[in-house]
Amino acid sequence: MSDATLLARAYAFAAARHADQRRKGESREPYLNHLCEVAEIVALATGGSDANLIAAAVLHDAIEDTGTTHGEIAASFNADVASLVSEVTDDKSLPKAERKRLQVATAAKKSTRAKAIKLADATSNLRAIAKSPPADWTVERRREYVAWARAVAEGLRGTNPALDALFDAAAAHAEAALAEPSAR
Ligand code: ZN
Repeated sequence: MSDATLLARAYAFAAARHADQRRKGESREPYLNHLCEVAEIVALATGGSDANLIAAAVLHDAIEDTGTTHGEIAASFNADVASLVSEVTDDKSLPKAERKRLQVATAAKKSTRAKAIKLADATSNLRAIAKSPPADWTVERRREYVAWARAVAEGLRGTNPALDALFDAAAAHAEAALAEPSAR
């Protein structure tokens, strides 16, 4: 499969699997927008030379959020894409608080490519918190989320300066938005 075909297939696969999902934010963006954003961040920051990495970025929430299996991704794409997606997938059998704790604890142990996807994911999520936070989230909850994202990013950063800079900008922007009196 050519790189272009691999990527076209990744977008089509993600669009089908996430078809009924929307983001939690007030504007209820299609979930696919998030996947496109994460993939573009990864592609731009890494020079676009690693098609498997970009395909895995498109598919990064497929196992966690759609019940897609590792085997399906391996069969539709390849073993490398499947193992990358598995590496960025949380164990959903664990309680949410434990998953969040593990994300902080395991971030530094991930491969460089998995770190790139996870840092781009955190960047996209922080942009969303600043631009369109979930309607039922208090300012305090948003603050806690940004602080948690920074703790996760501590373990992910240091392998790609462009990714680090995009994360820092998103975190600073989210914090600035929360500091405004209108955030209340
Ligand atoms: Zn994501």
